[in-house]
Amino acid sequence: MSWEEFNAEKVRSAEAYALRHLDSVMLHFFEDCVNCGLCEINCPYTAAGEEYGPVEKAEPLRKIYRRHAQIVPKLFPWLFGAGAPKSKEELDKWVEKAYRCTNCGLCYTTCPFGIHSGEMIKVLRGYLAKSGRIPTLLKLMVDAEASNTLLENAGLRGIWEDAVSKLKEEGVEFNKKNAKYLYITSLAEVMMTPGSVFGAVKLFKKLNLDWTMPDKPLSMRAPIGSLAGDDEATAIVARRIYDYIREINPEYVVLSDGGYPYTFFRFDLPRIIGEKPTFKVVHVVELVEEALKQGKLKFKKAAGKVTWHSPCKMGRFGGLLEEPVRVLSEASSDFVKLKSHGSFGKCCGGGSSIACIVPPTQQMMEKVMGTSIPISGTEKAFLDKLYKDMLVAGKAKVDEIRESGASVVVTSCVGCMHTLSMTTQAYGVNVKLKMLSEFLSENLE
Ligand code: SF4
Ligand code: SF4
Repeated sequence: MSWEEFNAEKVRSAEAYALRHLDSVMLHFFEDCVNCGLCEINCPYTAAGEEYGPVEKAEPLRKIYRRHAQIVPKLFPWLFGAGAPKSKEELDKWVEKAYRCTNCGLCYTTCPFGIHSGEMIKVLRGYLAKSGRIPTLLKLMVDAEASNTLLENAGLRGIWEDAVSKLKEEGVEFNKKNAKYLYITSLAEVMMTPGSVFGAVKLFKKLNLDWTMPDKPLSMRAPIGSLAGDDEATAIVARRIYDYIREINPEYVVLSDGGYPYTFFRFDLPRIIGEKPTFKVVHVVELVEEALKQGKLKFKKAAGKVTWHSPCKMGRFGGLLEEPVRVLSEASSDFVKLKSHGSFGKCCGGGSSIACIVPPTQQMMEKVMGTSIPISGTEKAFLDKLYKDMLVAGKAKVDEIRESGASVVVTSCVGCMHTLSMTTQAYGVNVKLKMLSEFLSENLE
């Protein structure tokens, strides 16, 4: 179904997807909001419009649930606005709301009742995917990743093969069974932030680890289907990744991307596979901090003011809030925290696939892949507005960076790096952006 179409039957039948996700936790998110508005203050997208507050964005899913889970709305749906969208315009409005959420978790952290609107919006995306609404570029990546055909594109293959040949020159041993550490990167990390990958490799070598990595990308990033709400594609990629890890049989899976791959490997993968993992998941920063404690590593103090942008996934969700701060304080002479930090650190504004579908990214992907991405007029208008709103949503973070006076912003998420490069440029803030492993490797003694 194209972006221009509206298939009422498909839209209604997608309700089965939303209902499958109605467990006790979702029921709490659905029923217990008292409309206090506290979550709105922190949501990055409220700045782009009141209709993008967390509760408003989760409302379409509540409409579906009301239709099935509450007796009176079930009997009189028209009185409660319950049920599926009735027109293309209404469906388009729902998509617009669902793609104004980065799943950053700030609403959840702020809500006195622990309501995670981001999780509801994630289910809403799945509902919309079943209704035929996934942005085209996202769909292309989801399908290529699920069918394991990413490297059939000459542009993407060239990027990966070039990286592999440079890594071979560095002496990397690929696919080594029973290595203690398995480093998992992705095609996106190699393409967008290669310094992160080569920086991690330099750190592993310095630490003299017994480690290996795959010679083929296991995914575009983590399963990108999880961002689009495509559970089937996500399960296929998760199985492929899990089988590969089991074959290598490491004690640890190491990541340098602390964005959504981090929560995927730690929390989602075991749940999707339904097995207790035989490996632990660590971020490079944990290895570095341990080595610093043991005196195995030393840094030169980098000159200039340096700050840290905490990716929501590794920080707020994964709890790695202070480790990067401690390590960066060792590796720089003037480290400064941003105004919002720790659990309440502001989101960059581009997570959950937003930065990867906005027009500048699309143009970049067309160049890399040597092909044009077919977008209809309605979808183009949707993406243009999304880009404008993303810049508004990202402004609070850019303001904090400007106020900090830092000349270098370090982060550890491919998506945050990409978003910050667009937002800092848009607001004329001239800072160097560095991935954590890259920054640390450059300042090794
Ligand atoms: S998860 Fe983040 S972006 Fe999504 S609704 Fe909550 S605060 Fe807003
Ligand atoms: S903070 Fe919680 S209770 Fe208050 S409006 Fe937001 S979701 Fe509802």
